[in-house]
Amino acid sequence: MVSLRRETMKTKNRCIHCRQVFIPNPRIKHQEYCGRQVCQNARKTKWQRQKMALDSDYRLNQKDAQHQWQEKNAGYWDKYRQSHPEYCQRNRQLQKLRDAKRRAQRLAKMDALTQRITIIPSSYKSCDPSCKKGLDRQTQRFGIKPDKKEVHYDHQNCP
Ligand SMILES: [Zn+2]
Repeated sequence: MVSLRRETMKTKNRCIHCRQVFIPNPRIKHQEYCGRQVCQNARKTKWQRQKMALDSDYRLNQKDAQHQWQEKNAGYWDKYRQSHPEYCQRNRQLQKLRDAKRRAQRLAKMDALTQRITIIPSSYKSCDPSCKKGLDRQTQRFGIKPDKKEVHYDHQNCP
């Protein structure tokens, strides 16, 4: 029994937050975080995020508690913003970054959409332009010029 205890005392874990080796608490099964305050805070934040994502009761309780706190401490954030101009400045910069990211994503989406419309199914390629009327109209609406190549049309393969 004594030797077994000595064995478990010897094992070491690596903290998944700070990557430092630590001796786990024998009372805690599968301890992933060391005892440092920053790592314990990280563990709690991760747990809370998972709980918020998976537990609707917990989510409702949190919302309720926040609402009550806001009613008790009305004007707290106005005062905080007034006394912490660097906090406002940082928030504004982060919001600008988020806006730019969203704009880039929207442009990428529009690019993908227009590219999809210019692709004409291969079965239409050898047809008379009248066969792909609908497709042409769609490409014109998006301001895309259809190809003007000289093609010999073969009506036998029209869909
Ligand atoms: Zn740690």
